[in-house]
Amino acid sequence: MKVLELENVSVRYKTEEKTVNAVENISFHLEKGETLGLVGESGCGKSTLGFSIMRLLPKGTKIDGSIKIEGTDISSLSDEEMRQIRGSKVAMIFQDPMTSLNPILRIEDHFVEMILTHRPELSKEDARELAAKALEDVGINRNRLKDYPFQFSGGMRQRVMIALSIVLNPAVLIADEPTTSLDVIVQAQIMELLEKLTKEHKTAMILITHDMGLVAEAADRIGVMYAGHLVELASKERIFTNPLHPYTVGLLRSIPNTDVNDRELRYIPGSPPDLSNPPEGCRFAPRCEKAMKICWEKEPPEFEIDGTRVKCWLYGGDQNGTD
Ligand code: SF4
Ligand code: MG
Repeated sequence: MKVLELENVSVRYKTEEKTVNAVENISFHLEKGETLGLVGESGCGKSTLGFSIMRLLPKGTKIDGSIKIEGTDISSLSDEEMRQIRGSKVAMIFQDPMTSLNPILRIEDHFVEMILTHRPELSKEDARELAAKALEDVGINRNRLKDYPFQFSGGMRQRVMIALSIVLNPAVLIADEPTTSLDVIVQAQIMELLEKLTKEHKTAMILITHDMGLVAEAADRIGVMYAGHLVELASKERIFTNPLHPYTVGLLRSIPNTDVNDRELRYIPGSPPDLSNPPEGCRFAPRCEKAMKICWEKEPPEFEIDGTRVKCWLYGGDQNGTD
């Protein structure tokens, strides 16, 4: 069952003097319970895509195409209807949970407010009980409902955020760099917890990260983004054993195998293009070892090879003028 469907989604926003095409023509879907890893360097549009699915982008941002959550096109919803869906059908967790928790509210108040917004038929007592169960689910004692956010460590705060995001059992969870600010041991614990909970609840998850190591463990499928485009989408096995796009190949090469602290993607020479003025042809051409003449002239379409979707001229089309 498809719980999330994106079709030709583009996101544009205006700064004072220019229009930035942050995300262009992205289509994919998520099945119930599936985890899709969305990887790429910072600024590639992966977080923007996450916020688009939550419909939480700054005013003036334009989203084209269609985003359906459990069959409902969210662009047709009023702000109030979208508020009802957020939290109950789609939820998001971020890198720094402190920014999403209100420092002057007890953990309990965060839960009760959230739960009663979506389930007004419940009593406060029932809401508190749901909250206590959710906390226990993430390995925190229910007594800590009375505590304030600052009384928790970073890892524990992220557990609280995870509990908050799943308490209403959403169909889709978007995790945007959920472990980046944590130390390695806590990172592993949080990922384990996310995997366990999404499995138990059959939650579909988009795991947004720059860390190929993280998706190697947690994802079922992997989407690779570059400069606002989805350049490759395939099963995790295909991505790791038979990557097709030259950018994916570069990302995999950039995974150091010893120091887990140092998985940043920064070993592909050059940097992504200015998205207010992207190059004519393939956006990766300036950094691509395999670039051909056509790559500089025409944007590659998407080709499908043995179940892998890849946006690169190496895999089809008329490569007239190959040099
Ligand atoms: Fe490289 Fe050309 Fe493929 Fe772009 S289309 S990734 S430049 S080979
Ligand atoms: Mg980001």
